[in-house]
This record gives sequence, structure tokens and C-alpha cells, in this order.
Amino acid sequence: MIHYSEPLFRPPSEANNVIIQITHGCSYNACSFCSMYETKQYKQKSLDEVFEDIETLNKYYSQAHKIFLADGDALAVDTSTLLQILKKLYASFPNLRRVTSYASPINLEQKSLEELSTLYEAGLKLIYFGIETGSDVLLKKIQKGTTFSKMKEGLNKASQAGFKISATVILGVGGREYSKEHVAQTARLVNETTLNYLSTLQLGLQQTKEAQFYKKFEQGFTWLDDKEMLEEQLHFLEALQPTNKIIFRSNHASNAFALAGTLPKNTNRLIDEVKYAIKDESLLTPSWLRGF
Ligand code: SF4
Repeated sequence: MIHYSEPLFRPPSEANNVIIQITHGCSYNACSFCSMYETKQYKQKSLDEVFEDIETLNKYYSQAHKIFLADGDALAVDTSTLLQILKKLYASFPNLRRVTSYASPINLEQKSLEELSTLYEAGLKLIYFGIETGSDVLLKKIQKGTTFSKMKEGLNKASQAGFKISATVILGVGGREYSKEHVAQTARLVNETTLNYLSTLQLGLQQTKEAQFYKKFEQGFTWLDDKEMLEEQLHFLEALQPTNKIIFRSNHASNAFALAGTLPKNTNRLIDEVKYAIKDESLLTPSWLRGF
């Protein structure tokens, strides 16, 4: 029997991979827009339980190439425990090529370059990281528990350690009031780090989070409509000047208009596609067909 606890989330790109849950919930669990783990009390699973799960999953997926460590920020687990888990995984799955996990800004702050390098060498190859916004004003409002400089430092430390980074940005997270600030500071963060994958999704809020989210926007919060979301997307793409190759996607279930390309090579083509969609709203996926 596998010790999974629901709800269990994983990035879309991990849909076909083995999931080993090494924690329950998120060690931070305070972002005002996030309802993923609101029903879960954070807890680290015992090594015995994790090892038991690895052995059970190995019976069914012994040829697995990729494994995702859940839940919300598996990198919160202390480095020596993570190393024992990685060692067990690579010993159990002979074809394993990469292990991945979500990582929060706080996780990257707390781990030293040396620890991150050791984890990378042990086989943790890619982290999924929610930037959400690069704006300090908005980071405070959405209670992300970090700042522009701390994220920049953490992301650059992770890259230096060897990690590939897949990051997400939330369109519309500052409403109409902070759209310009959100675009400028988020693009600046992307330009000053070396992300490998970047995706944008549209803000969506579960009813249970609305009061907490709006409370910090003392002057009010005006939602962007789909056209305004696309305009924000457009300005964001225009402001990006990455120094490395980034695989860009905007194809989350929440997105009104899907985009895919490589930055900076396809930046102009992506910009043209967004401009086209802004002019012709019939190209947008109707909201009732979307989720978040
Ligand atoms: S760190 Fe991630 S999982 Fe945890 S509350 Fe924030 S957005 Fe949600």
C-alpha cells in the first residue's frame, strides 16, 4: 500500500511520471492566492514510510526514468534526509535519469550553495518554482514570504548548483492597479536569473481564499478581463531579455490563449500571436471551458 494523502498535486509535465510523496502539504502554506494545501497540515513523512513507498512503487514501475517528489515544497526536507531518499531512488530504479520537486523561495534561502550542489549531484535535477511576481509590493500583498532580491539570489544559487529551473508567473495577480509594476519587476527578475522553463497562468481564486487575498489590497483590486490579461502578457513578453534560452509556455488550463515557443528566438512571433488574439477575441477559449 502506498502512503499517499490527498489532495496530491504535481506539475502538468510530470503527468506520466512516478510520484513519491515525501511530505504532506506545504511547509509555508501562507500565500494568499493558494488553496492547494489549505486542508493539509504540513508534515514530513518518516524515512521508513518513504522507503516503503519506494519499494512498493518499484514493483509496478521498476523501469521509471523520472520521479517527482511531492508535496508542495519537498525541498523543505533537511538535506541529509533528501540525500538518503535520492540514494534509495537511484539504487531502486536502474533507469532513473532525473528526480524533480517543487521548491519555495524560502527553501532556496535556507539551503546553502554547497547543499544544493550536493543534492544536484545526488540526482535532484530540476525544481519547479512559483515566482508569481517580481514586485516587492505585490509579493508582500500576496504574502509570498519573500522579496525580489531573495528570489533572485535563491534562483541564481540553484542555477549555480546545476539545477534546471521551471518557473511560473501569475498574470493579473496585481489587478489593474499594479499591472505595470507587476510586468516591469517580473520581467526584470527573469532577465536577471537563468531560468530554463517559464510559464504564465491567469489568476484564479478559490472562494475560500478571496477574503484573505483582497484584504491586502486596501485600495481595491480590479480583476483583469481576458483582453487585459493578454495585454499584460504582451507587455511582459516585450520586456523580456533573457541571457539564456528559455522554453516558454502559456498553456495552463486557466489561460484564455495558448502560447508556446523558445525565448529569445521566438519572442517576436509570440508577441505577434498575442497581438492577433487581442484584436480577435473569438480566438480565446471561453471561460467556462477553463479551470485554474
Ligand atoms: S509556497 Fe507554493 S504551495 Fe506553498 S502556499 Fe505558497 S504557492 Fe502554495
